[in-house]
Amino acid sequence: MAALDTEALVLHLFDYRETSRIVRFVTRDAGVVSVVARGARRPRNRYGAALDLFASGTAQVMMHESGDLHALHAFEAARSRRELALSLDRFVAAAMIGEMCLRFGSGDEPARVFDAAVGALDAITAAPEDGVSAASLAGAWRLVSELGFAPSLDRCASCHGEIEAGADVAFHNRAGGALCRGCASNAPGGRRLPASARATLRAWLAASGAAPGLQQAEARAHARMLRRFLDEHVGDGRPLRAFVAWEDRLAIGGRAGTSA
Ligand SMILES: [Zn+2]
Repeated sequence: MAALDTEALVLHLFDYRETSRIVRFVTRDAGVVSVVARGARRPRNRYGAALDLFASGTAQVMMHESGDLHALHAFEAARSRRELALSLDRFVAAAMIGEMCLRFGSGDEPARVFDAAVGALDAITAAPEDGVSAASLAGAWRLVSELGFAPSLDRCASCHGEIEAGADVAFHNRAGGALCRGCASNAPGGRRLPASARATLRAWLAASGAAPGLQQAEARAHARMLRRFLDEHVGDGRPLRAFVAWEDRLAIGGRAGTSA
């Protein structure tokens, strides 16, 4: 058994046997890790109240050499993020980010994925109410970028020729991004990406800055585009339940907005 001391973010918790819980973390040093927190359901336990969904801090894990389930020795939370549970919009967005990490976050760059996940949750927590959908989209695309699947926006994804910065383009999931006019005419199935949406996407991929004033209809279009992109590039055919719940929530927000 080897001890791992790492920054960790709680992404999933469930009860295990009489008194324990199983926790799934994304960690800075080892990617996604599943641990047993022994005795965590006892009123007095060594983790105190720290083991909460979306809390981040320092975890000490005893890594078993065989098997994927390790033992949590200690967890000290630096941030609880309990406020995420006070807003359904924020909670479903955080769950969507968590699901993406758990499903796709076991690559070669755990520190980058960890930082993107923590950054996304902090941005979703801090965003004003009408900025939650933009913060969620920014965080999700940033995560896609750190996973190594960022779409090409300024060079044609097919011929690699430069594309005019302020132009509407055809976005082609299978090709992996924007296509120049010539390649677009030879590739059926692309979708029009207006210049403004392309600029927004470029900003999200480059930094964690959320575009201000994203309309619900735009947010829905971006979410749809993100879902199709994930399906094409990282999806394994299994449904992304939290993503679907988040997308449904965006749709409800839009209806409420138009009827007001
Ligand atoms: Zn081209």
